[in-house]
Amino acid sequence: MKYWWLEKYQNMEVRLLPQLFSEIEYFLTMPKNYIKIYNQLREIPIEELNEEELCIILYRIAITKNVSDETLRKVIDRLLKIPDASLPISDYTFNEIIEEIKNLKLKKPIVEKLETNNVAACYNCLNIFYVDKIKKANKKGLCLCPFCEKDKLYFDNDLVPMNYSFLYLSKIYYGISSLGCDFSKIKKLIKKGLLIKENSDEQKDVCDLNFLEKYKMEKIRCEDEQNIIKDLDDEIRSGESLGLYEKTIVIDWNTNKNILELSNLLIISSIQSLSNSFYLKKINLIINNKEIRNCVNNILHILTKRNV
Ligand SMILES: [Zn+2]
Repeated sequence: MKYWWLEKYQNMEVRLLPQLFSEIEYFLTMPKNYIKIYNQLREIPIEELNEEELCIILYRIAITKNVSDETLRKVIDRLLKIPDASLPISDYTFNEIIEEIKNLKLKKPIVEKLETNNVAACYNCLNIFYVDKIKKANKKGLCLCPFCEKDKLYFDNDLVPMNYSFLYLSKIYYGISSLGCDFSKIKKLIKKGLLIKENSDEQKDVCDLNFLEKYKMEKIRCEDEQNIIKDLDDEIRSGESLGLYEKTIVIDWNTNKNILELSNLLIISSIQSLSNSFYLKKINLIINNKEIRNCVNNILHILTKRNV
């Protein structure tokens, strides 16, 4: 399910709306001219709109807080029926991931490629979708994303990983993320603010990470990544309203499952938390699993190298 985060609002109560609105703003990226498109769509019945148009309606509702429950329910019901098109997570090391991200700008989404590809991914709005959705190109002959109208696309035959965490890192790398600082500042932030420890006596403000338990048994799939990053970020920043300067997280991992995947997600959510927080300046990651600890330290080492 692509829009898994809407599931909890299916039979929604009004008091949940502020949370819904903030999640819509978190998960959806709009094209510049979305208000104009919205104005053209407003008279069309919800049943006739496509996925991209439904997202615009939903975003506009969240921004203006102007909504009838009936419209909102219909939009949510339709989006929940859209399947996830992402490809499985690659087993690349972080070094290989960074190499692929650096090469992304060489893989231009030229219109000619549409004939030989099935799936496209956008590292501006982080959508993964079938190429038959692509209807527009720019003057340079590059395909434009149907969701955000940017040319930050690549295709399945480019043989580049096509999963959420890869797209998220690419977005940060190319300085188009909404994190409020560029990649070099993010590297500094992580170097200063993320501390990896084996164990610690003082375990104040420890997060409850129950949502990770099931991944000790089953593989982290592409559709889980978005979910895990959001939940980890929410946990890490749960002290923001109290003005907490420091947060400690304990990763208690007694299995060899999902080592690479979890390490990447821990780094990404730490990046997200540190760069989005006003008060939080330090995250202590206590990891009792040697392999994850090595993997996270290795990623940190690569990320903070000068020439990355
Ligand atoms: Zn896009």
